Amino acid sequence: MNLNTIKEILHPSSVDEISQWRDGYAWLAGGTWLFSEPQVATDTLIDLDQLNWRALETSPTGLDIAATCRIAELYRYAGSDEWPAMPLVRECCDAFLASFKIWNASTVGGNICMSLPAGPMISLTVALEATYTMYPRNAPPLEIRAVDFVTGNHTNILQPGELLRSIRLPAAALSKRFAFRHASLTHLGRSAALVIGTQTKDADDFLLTITAATPRPIQIRFEHMPSAAELRRAIDEGIPAEDYFDDVHGSAAYKRHLAYYFTEQIRAELAAPGARA
Ligand SMILES: Cc1cc2nc3c(=O)[nH]c(=O)nc-3n(C[C@H](O)[C@H](O)[C@H](O)COP(=O)(O)OP(=O)(O)OC[C@H]3O[C@@H](n4cnc5c(N)ncnc54)[C@H](O)[C@@H]3O)c2cc1C
Repeated sequence: MNLNTIKEILHPSSVDEISQWRDGYAWLAGGTWLFSEPQVATDTLIDLDQLNWRALETSPTGLDIAATCRIAELYRYAGSDEWPAMPLVRECCDAFLASFKIWNASTVGGNICMSLPAGPMISLTVALEATYTMYPRNAPPLEIRAVDFVTGNHTNILQPGELLRSIRLPAAALSKRFAFRHASLTHLGRSAALVIGTQTKDADDFLLTITAATPRPIQIRFEHMPSAAELRRAIDEGIPAEDYFDDVHGSAAYKRHLAYYFTEQIRAELAAPGARA
């Protein structure tokens, strides 16, 4: 849609060019959300495209994803054969309610900064124990754990003018086995629950990440694979019934049911010897 409050679009080639920040400014990534509804409080968009950040970079220590990397670019990226968790990338891209137009424009960083419960790039990066690099205003870059970034439905720790620069998926997490479950009420609909479990190769640990069913990602770490009863108890302790996310994409009770159902399936899948990577 046309945004008739916008008076100016800036195209900096370096972040330093935006030396001041004021009310009415907004970073523009893919624009798929910004241009989908009126932005009455915004008069200036600051386009991140001309920063020309390299979208994807692999090294033996992991995969670096620029915040401006498009979902379509990430999907096409094959990754290293040494990383058993790489197929999780495509599983999460496929969990997006999106036409090809959205996929080609929308960015990984934009999805994370939108901080919607059904943000699949949040699910992916939290499950793979990512760290985010942020650019605060007038301070050195800051690294934070992905799991600490989103604080609720459409809220996160970013202060006005702060920028998400990149996402690092560590090789240790990419080397894990994983199990993935996802449901939405309608075909290509927004996720009602997206649950991921990971486990270190030849080990008995279990990292569970529950997203979409809750306003922010919930992660529960087990040193050893729990029994079904232990798992259920841990979920009850980690997510009180009233903390499930209730919206048109599913009631809180439905999402709670999915969380129990999927986590038990994931537990059983990873507990089985020779479970798929
Ligand atoms: C039809 C449709 C379906 C959608 N389906 C989904 C869905 O299933 N799940 C979902 O999560 N979302 C969905 N969305 C919302 C949105 O399109 C996505 O979240 C998308 O990934 C946002 O990315 P973008 O690059 O287009 O962000 P933009 O629209 O450019 O920006 C989104 C917000 O993030 C801020 N921002 C962007 N990049 C940065 C950065 N690097 N640092 C700091 N702030 C930044 C912007 O200022 C803005 O506030 C949908 C939207 C539409 C129109």
